Amino acid sequence: MRALHLISDRKLEISEIPAPSPPAEGEVQIKTHAIALNHIDVWGWRGMAFAKRKMPLVVGAEASGEIVAVGAGVKNFKPGDPVTPYGALTCGKCKPCLEGRDNFCENASGVTGFHVDGFAQDFYNYQARLVVPVPKGITPVDASCAPLTFATSVHMLFDNAKLQTGETVLVHAGGSGIGTAAIRLAKDIDAVVITTVGDDEKVLKAKALGADYVINYKTDRFEHTVRKITKKKGVDVVFEHTGADTWEGSLLSLKRGGRLVTCGATSGPAGKINLMQLFQQQYKIFGSFGFTIRNVGEALTKIAKGVKPVIDSEVALADVHSGLEKLESRRVFGKIVVRF
Ligand SMILES: [Zn+2]
Repeated sequence: MRALHLISDRKLEISEIPAPSPPAEGEVQIKTHAIALNHIDVWGWRGMAFAKRKMPLVVGAEASGEIVAVGAGVKNFKPGDPVTPYGALTCGKCKPCLEGRDNFCENASGVTGFHVDGFAQDFYNYQARLVVPVPKGITPVDASCAPLTFATSVHMLFDNAKLQTGETVLVHAGGSGIGTAAIRLAKDIDAVVITTVGDDEKVLKAKALGADYVINYKTDRFEHTVRKITKKKGVDVVFEHTGADTWEGSLLSLKRGGRLVTCGATSGPAGKINLMQLFQQQYKIFGSFGFTIRNVGEALTKIAKGVKPVIDSEVALADVHSGLEKLESRRVFGKIVVRF
């Protein structure tokens, strides 16, 4: 069977490896149907000096597939069931795990496809407790965007920022994977969406997706436009994942008591904050990392009712380089999915 290995920085190779042995007790064996690419794959591919991991590493942090075998003691899955794996090896035993706060696990042994072998392989065994069933009617491509892209956005918007119907949200990088997901999820509860994109073609696409206002951040200062749109009030929620380039403008875009939620820093990790502005304006800032297993189920429920992922393109396994290059250069609108 095939596995996509990262051999060294920027070097990916499709290798032939032996198929896994039958699943052990509490495990299932999954046949991969699709993996969705994420910035974590781009970072992994570029190389990250501080990340502790072994090479070669099977990449793939977000995937969909189908159960082909179940190990002893597994009652809730059978061969043929469509599924998606939760992409972090949590312990299932610590207090946060038992409370369903999986992304606070005290003994997590790594993120799949980044620290430990991921899902870009034809078959793998996985702990059944980390596998989420996919409802009927969801395609493998759409399901592959649930466990990271959609679940991250669900966790940010609803668990952390507690976005409500009728509130206004600023979604950064509305053409990105999680940006497109956030726009769809926010519109699904009838929030007012302002989003930023980097070119005029993406302005049209973001509008078609349902965004109420779209700002080309290359030609307009987004924080000024946000203040104009909101009649100087500012937005209730800012959905941040871009980092240094947008941080100060994001804070200036918030209304009094507004909430900023962030899960990324693709443009750089350092941002300034005016502490007087922070307390006088009574901002709430949420760092959001990952999501819970429950969030994956919630994401799939949203997708099943028609809040679908935006797919930029599908590529074959052999063309994964072109997918990663496209993602790195941001010439994308939505998700790039690798078909198996
Ligand atoms: Zn745990």
